[in-house]
Amino acid sequence: MLYSVGMNAPPPPPLNFKENCLSRVHIEENRPAETCERLGAHLFVGEGLLQEQVQELKPAQVGARAFPSDDVTRFLVFQNPMFMPAYVYCYFQFRGWFNPKEFSPDDLAMRATGFSVLGTELTGYTDWLKTKDGVHCAARVKESSNIGVIDIAKELQGKKALVALNPVGAANVTSSYDSIMRDLWLTMNHERIHVLQANCKSINQQSHLLWKVLSKEERAKMIETHGNYDWTKSEVAARENLAYKFEDKSDDLLELAKDCK
Ligand SMILES: [Zn+2]
Repeated sequence: MLYSVGMNAPPPPPLNFKENCLSRVHIEENRPAETCERLGAHLFVGEGLLQEQVQELKPAQVGARAFPSDDVTRFLVFQNPMFMPAYVYCYFQFRGWFNPKEFSPDDLAMRATGFSVLGTELTGYTDWLKTKDGVHCAARVKESSNIGVIDIAKELQGKKALVALNPVGAANVTSSYDSIMRDLWLTMNHERIHVLQANCKSINQQSHLLWKVLSKEERAKMIETHGNYDWTKSEVAARENLAYKFEDKSDDLLELAKDCK
């Protein structure tokens, strides 16, 4: 049935992971349906619409080794990529991690493979959401995601950190099942490095030092490969440089973090 504007059309049923994946991504290999189905079966529990839109996940599901901070972290995985902006678009803007004029909620949904949020770093966020910028941001997110801003403090459920993966975003930036899974593995490590860094003074100091000692060329290369951050802020530069440097070397990172609890 066709509905004209103004008629009360019933809300469409939520898509399952495979449908989300196939409708939003441009997998350039010749078997996208098979790739999306494999990803869905591997990352989500349940069948079709019985699958929850947001599910709990274990780092081992994407092949990641245990980190000391895993016990105090809640892990999630999204079927629908629009949960990505619903959870953190406004939080990222609040932190000044991107320029909202250059990066939309849709960009975040389709270009980010995951995120981490620390409970200790949420101070001031709820109040910011009530400011003019905050209200405008929430309206943008509601308009593009149809979900609206999610209360991330509540989503911590008593843990210190929240780490989430966005497999449709990962499938949008790469192509084969193996490369998507590798991206999710890297993201899981990358985001947990941010958790370690925020929870551990010595790692935080190391990250600032590692950024400081980079040559002009090395900095330019890092900024060129990971352009979506505000690299002029030393806090952002230090944390991202550390996470990108060690995301595929978790053994080395854990050696560096051996005094962290
Ligand atoms: Zn990062």
